[in-house]
Amino acid sequence: MLDVLRRIVQEVAGARNLEQASTIIVKRIKQAMAADVCSVYLCDYTQRQHVLMATDGLNPAAVGRVRLAMGEGVVSVVGENAEPLNLDNAPDHPRYRYVAETGEEFYHGFVGVPIIHHRKVLGVLVVRQRDKRKFAEDEVSFLVTMAAQLAGAIASAEASGGMPVAEQSGLAIVDGGIVDGLGGAPGVAIGTALVMYPPADLDAVPDRTVTDVQAEIVAFKAAVGTVQAEMQNLGDKLVMHLSAEDRALFDAYSLMLSSGSLVDKVVERISAGNWASGALRETVAEHIKVFEDMDDAYLRERAEDIRDLGRRVLMCLQSSGRRKPPPYPERAVLVGDEITAAMLAEAPRERLAGVVSASGSRSSHVAILARALGVPAVVGAGDLPTGRLEGREMIVDGYRGRVYLCPSDPVRAEYQRLAREEAELNAGLAGLRDLPAETPDGVRVPLYANTGLVADASPSLSSGAEGIGLYRTEFPFMVRDRFPGEQEQRRIYREVLETFAPRPVVLRTLDVGGDKPLGYFPIEEENPFLGWRGIRITLDHPDIFMVQLRAMLGASAGLNNLRLLLPMVSHLGEVDDALALVRRAHREVVAEGEAVEMPPVGVMIEVPAAVYQSEAIARRVDFLSIGSNDLTQYLLAVDRNNGRVAELYDALHPAVLQAMVHVVQAGHRVGKPVGVCGEMAGDPLATVALLGMGVDSLSMSVASLPRVKWVVRSVAHAEAQAVLTELLAMESPAAVRRRLEQALEAAGVGSLVRAGK
Ligand code: PEP
Ligand code: MG
Repeated sequence: MLDVLRRIVQEVAGARNLEQASTIIVKRIKQAMAADVCSVYLCDYTQRQHVLMATDGLNPAAVGRVRLAMGEGVVSVVGENAEPLNLDNAPDHPRYRYVAETGEEFYHGFVGVPIIHHRKVLGVLVVRQRDKRKFAEDEVSFLVTMAAQLAGAIASAEASGGMPVAEQSGLAIVDGGIVDGLGGAPGVAIGTALVMYPPADLDAVPDRTVTDVQAEIVAFKAAVGTVQAEMQNLGDKLVMHLSAEDRALFDAYSLMLSSGSLVDKVVERISAGNWASGALRETVAEHIKVFEDMDDAYLRERAEDIRDLGRRVLMCLQSSGRRKPPPYPERAVLVGDEITAAMLAEAPRERLAGVVSASGSRSSHVAILARALGVPAVVGAGDLPTGRLEGREMIVDGYRGRVYLCPSDPVRAEYQRLAREEAELNAGLAGLRDLPAETPDGVRVPLYANTGLVADASPSLSSGAEGIGLYRTEFPFMVRDRFPGEQEQRRIYREVLETFAPRPVVLRTLDVGGDKPLGYFPIEEENPFLGWRGIRITLDHPDIFMVQLRAMLGASAGLNNLRLLLPMVSHLGEVDDALALVRRAHREVVAEGEAVEMPPVGVMIEVPAAVYQSEAIARRVDFLSIGSNDLTQYLLAVDRNNGRVAELYDALHPAVLQAMVHVVQAGHRVGKPVGVCGEMAGDPLATVALLGMGVDSLSMSVASLPRVKWVVRSVAHAEAQAVLTELLAMESPAAVRRRLEQALEAAGVGSLVRAGK
């Protein structure tokens, strides 16, 4: 059963659409269970019916036509209870109903399992037997596993716009499709998809049209020749160590490459207009499927060899310079299974219209970077048909977390209107630029910018930011292929410090690990967010830390607007050790004759342990800065990058608010200022709560700054305190959200939250 299951799962994963996936499933299940019928019913909640969407065994003409009213028949019982139902004689069940349209004979054995996605029943998978038959437990669990597979396919079809779908053969996944994800950065963009993908990942290669077919064929054949030679060499090198049988593997590889079928197929596809890498991906996938379908276990294993060969040929194609992305379209929407911070950083800003990533969540660094750049982004759009999007028009709705693929004229017109309105709102907010961030009852709350890219220093300046509240130094480390040296770092930091002087600039020491890996400093861990990251790495590597500290201090010579910030602190000892190194670096730099004052040092409060020791931490340093992104992640035990639990990740959770109040009060008790630099600081809805807590400053992406300033200037501090008292008694994030929305409406700035809906 396990082997059958594995093969079906692979086959389903390769299906192009829901119809194909469900057809494969019903056919294979019927075979595997030696049953008479296997069918899939989908729930149509608007009509309150179950629609037959695929069957092997019943009349195929009934597909899409047979609709069972919810509440009637044993299929409904499965849907209502959201539990498997296993009956040896279905007609005995009080809810049984005979359905003539399906060409149904009299079936006795029945087993139905619900198809559930995110707690919602999407349909029912049913197996029938003419004879009386009670299905075995392992058969039922096999069906439950298959139903989980189907759930993913159905949910993605639902997202692409058509339910119930039975009578629409071949879902239009690309044209007019809609894919839902999470709003990564606010704003709407209309642009052209440019698919980004990691090197040597054959599955991620997109289709791409070529103009010079001949050149493409020549490049492909050259790559095949190189791999053949490579295989030959490998075989020769190992000749002393391998048995003749094992050596035959290399001959088999060579043979596969010269057999013609693979090469000819790729050439055929190139001639039809696809580029070599795309043609290779499709052909290799086709060959893999043929091998995986074979009954012989040995031959099935050959699928892996084909995959490996495909990867090798792709690598040759890429190293011959064919991986270079085509020129960025004028309004490029970067699309990919995983868009990285580096991909974003590389894109020319003037052409970058939007970002869509199949993975990630609101607080992933790619989303943070997109917000910093003011580029609308949708992340966690898991159902994105990435491979087929290159060059297609798409709309990115960063407010709702929705992507429209090849939109219809009315949808495009609606979004053009929204984009115009947004531009008008921004132009209106631009008028606030030179006004102070001060509440109507006279409380000043300086607003700073978060950054990590030198390129966005000027937008930070022109946004009216009063300084940099968080400079994430890991970004310049991430876009290089080695650790930057002291002088190189010094230049980078000097540029920001100079740009903003005399305004303060908070440079955070290196916070790599977690979801911010350095390609040249690999860390393999089971739980990277609970592992070696932030201050833990830098304290373990004084070589890296001291270079960075000296570069930061040196860069501030003569300016003295530097502040240092330590990330991921969870033990007081870390603060003491880091402070000792800062003092040492300062002594060294001064000894070299630089005019550098000892800068104020702060600690990020982003781990629950630090919340409860915040007073002791504050006594040791000059300021605290709450990192609400990680604090939310660690308090709620929700991975900030995991789309599956993204709905649980909410900085407005009452527990997060209470923890923050605790930190602000602890800091103030010992006379130290407390700011917030997580994404929450840039959410206009959260601003009222933060004002109420009495935070001393807010640091956010520049794109958020005008909106937050508008709220600060509209809500009295006393009113914010009263609202916060109510919030702290609330029990759910939803209640907090509703109350904050009311507060914004009452202050006359409700349009800020309405724009995001
Ligand atoms: C945070 O955790 O809130 C924060 C600002 O740091 P980062 O997002 O870089 O982890
Ligand atoms: Mg953090």
